[in-house]
Amino acid sequence: MGLIGDWLAAGGAARTSGSLRVGSMASGAPVALPWVGVRGARPGPTLWLHGQVHGDEINGMVAALRFARALDPQAMSGHLVVTPTGNPQALDARRKRNPYDELDLDQSYPGNAQGLVTERVAHALMQEVRGVATVLINLHTMNPLFDAPPYTVYKHHPDSGIAEEALLAAMACFHPRLACRQDVGGKGELPGNIAGALDYQCLAAGTLAFMLELGSGSRLQPANVALAETGFATLARQMGILPGPAGERTAHLRTVSRRGWITADDGGLFVPRCQAGDRVAAGESIGDLLGLDGSLTPVPPFQRDGVLIGLRSDPVVHTGERLAFVAWEWADRPLAST
Ligand SMILES: [Zn+2]
Repeated sequence: MGLIGDWLAAGGAARTSGSLRVGSMASGAPVALPWVGVRGARPGPTLWLHGQVHGDEINGMVAALRFARALDPQAMSGHLVVTPTGNPQALDARRKRNPYDELDLDQSYPGNAQGLVTERVAHALMQEVRGVATVLINLHTMNPLFDAPPYTVYKHHPDSGIAEEALLAAMACFHPRLACRQDVGGKGELPGNIAGALDYQCLAAGTLAFMLELGSGSRLQPANVALAETGFATLARQMGILPGPAGERTAHLRTVSRRGWITADDGGLFVPRCQAGDRVAAGESIGDLLGLDGSLTPVPPFQRDGVLIGLRSDPVVHTGERLAFVAWEWADRPLAST
């Protein structure tokens, strides 16, 4: 067990903060992962909130830190751990990826202690999470160019022993617009190593884990922060860490089994006809590309109904850039009551 697990195992109501050393910069400045621990008076499960893996995604960090501040360890049976950033160099640089190696941290777990710096921070985190976290939430937002209502993403790991129903029950605490089941094979979403996601590697380690997507990057969105804080409390009650009835979670989830991106054929200024979260019917177009010669070209109409997971809010687009993230197949799932 790592440093955080040792601190939790010592027992007794307490709160602390520290940092996990990974290495150092040429200047001598440390590369380290900050953490906050709230240890309950009585033993119980551990809820772990991972504020960001992508450096420009801020809402989750704020929500997790505020939630930790509001807890009374005397009232808790179990623990809370917050690792506000898993990617401190990307946070400092206000960008998604670490500028020193350009790797995507959420494709780099479980990491490598002898690898590039992104692989090293991934490894440092996994060493602490394994055997300690009962539930881990991998907090994200969409990129700064998009709007999106809060939604969740989950995966299935064949050896985790964690049932889809248990994942859905945890995600329901956040009233997500959609709960997207992501196939690790990718199925044409974006290129990359989906199996390197933190939540997938946590599932492999027996921790119930999913992604909570809280709106847009590079900004503070108070409504999304508030939704996350309320959901953390609901989940902590459901886990028995906080006293009281489990309370408000949604009775239905719309699970998504296939999704994809709409990209622009030609450059121009994208003017949408709809909003993020909308359902778009077959035959409808999501908007127009306004050319700088004054021309107006509709985006090709949908071949089938879709739900807009996210929609571009920055109108400047080039060929191949993303206009919308769309759910193409979904089902409405009733959840067992608590
Ligand atoms: Zn992200």
